[in-house]
Amino acid sequence: MLSLAKNAPQPDKDFASCSGCGLCLLVCPVWRRTHDLALTPLGRAKALQHGANAADIAVSVQSCTLCAACEPVCPEDIGLVEMTLDLRRRLPQPEGEQARMQEQTARPPAPQPAATAVLIPGTALRERPVTLARAQALLARTGKLALADDDGADIALALEAGMPVPKQRLERFLQPLRRARKIIVADGLLLRNARQWLPRAELVSLGVALSGLTTVRRALGASDLYVIEPRAYHADYQRLVKYYDGLRAASGCTFNLDLQRIAIPAAAPTLPQKFGLEAAAGGDDGVQARWILQGRNVTRIVLECMEDAAAFNSVSGLPVVHLADLADDGNRRNNDSRNDNQA
Ligand code: SF4
Ligand code: SF4
Repeated sequence: MLSLAKNAPQPDKDFASCSGCGLCLLVCPVWRRTHDLALTPLGRAKALQHGANAADIAVSVQSCTLCAACEPVCPEDIGLVEMTLDLRRRLPQPEGEQARMQEQTARPPAPQPAATAVLIPGTALRERPVTLARAQALLARTGKLALADDDGADIALALEAGMPVPKQRLERFLQPLRRARKIIVADGLLLRNARQWLPRAELVSLGVALSGLTTVRRALGASDLYVIEPRAYHADYQRLVKYYDGLRAASGCTFNLDLQRIAIPAAAPTLPQKFGLEAAAGGDDGVQARWILQGRNVTRIVLECMEDAAAFNSVSGLPVVHLADLADDGNRRNNDSRNDNQA
């Protein structure tokens, strides 16, 4: 077995460094939803400082969405996502996931894509074939693009749970990607780790890849709320702050960013909810989505990640579309494709 701890981003400091300042609460969707201090990074750090172990705070450890919004605000520079993953590794693992990874490992090797760019779309986009086809068509304008045969959904879930991934499984996933110059990854946690596994490739989020296209930028307007996928954003925070500032200037739309430019997550599913072991948060997610919409005068919600659609559909009454759906306009597509090809 290969421990993901070796490959995942390493924390600079751990819970022992927590000063109790409480800044992480300001951006944490779990705090917003529950107002329970025990379910926050502050609560976990203080419990650990006073001798608790992972099992003692299991509910808190499993409640974290790994959105990483707390990391840029922590003045102690604690690797809060890695801290949570480290605690998850000490808890009983969800049943069935190891078997799923073994099944994937046993499949014949995926073919080498005959393209320099590969899209790893993730489960939420695979479930929406029309939107996926639009995303492929848009991304193919800048060069030959292949859809990953193995999108590593089981690996993404293992990362979520802090589970070890068998070396053979990881190798089967990575081998067809090694020749790709550009890899576009929809799942933010998978992207964060893939940067460690494939250091020579250019790895970008699906949101950045699509929003960089002229066609998509032109379809954004001042009354749109553009919802950034927080995991990918916070994993590359310093660079992407500037990128989204540029997108804001070019399009005029507003973002799910707070005053410190932290991307606010739209939903807050727990680990058991992600694994389908508990019902989805439902109304609880509405609290978070309503908070994002508060005080904004928007007429459309544009998503980087389709997983956010349910929360906004439940509370907004506004059209909720994926970035890839923005370009579904024949005239604009014909005109802008020339620009995208030249970009
Ligand atoms: S990663 Fe997100 S959900 Fe988890 S503690 Fe940080 S802000 Fe809260
Ligand atoms: S922001 Fe950092 S130092 Fe402050 S309470 Fe949260 S984890 Fe502790």
